[in-house]
Amino acid sequence: MSRAVLSIGSNIGDSLSHLQSVVDGLGDRVLAISPVYSTAPWGGVAQQDFLNAVLVVDDPALDGYGWLRRGQQFEAEADRVRGERWGPRTLDVDIVTCDEVRSDDPELTLPHPRAHERAFVLVPWLDVEPDAVLPVEGEITRVESLLALLDEGERAGVRRTRLVLKRRSQ
Ligand code: ADP
Ligand code: MG
Repeated sequence: MSRAVLSIGSNIGDSLSHLQSVVDGLGDRVLAISPVYSTAPWGGVAQQDFLNAVLVVDDPALDGYGWLRRGQQFEAEADRVRGERWGPRTLDVDIVTCDEVRSDDPELTLPHPRAHERAFVLVPWLDVEPDAVLPVEGEITRVESLLALLDEGERAGVRRTRLVLKRRSQ
């Protein structure tokens, strides 16, 4: 079994449709879908707000690299163009965790090295998995505690919307 937590985000074009394309493409591999959040951009590049969500997914046939490639296929289908770092994108699919795997390969770092400091990952993740834990610097830490450590400004930038991602019958 390979269970992964995916963070999906978009701030170009029809962002909700871009996020929905991942849910549709993964079909019954999707175990849980968070609410959709509107989030302030990260990294200091002036750009539109993002829509973000978290998915919990499972596929016995995919390891971490398999999830990475699958995520990159969804990005390519959304016509993502890789521009400046942390710049705008039609779709970003990040692997937050995959089973208990730890990796420091720059192509696939697990858990995702910045997940613990991003409210737009932690807040939706807690919605679908309130007891989630994440190893940070070797220490297993509750995601709830990691969120409490973030600046109020970082948390306030993540606002729940009424938008929902739907599981469609295949
Ligand atoms: P970012 O998501 O950091 O804003 P990109 O989506 O452009 O930036 O990803 C840059 C690179 O990060 C990708 O080429 C990918 O191989 C690498 N990467 C390393 N670890 C991960 C991970 N856990 N999830 C997704 N991409 C990762
Ligand atoms: Mg990415």
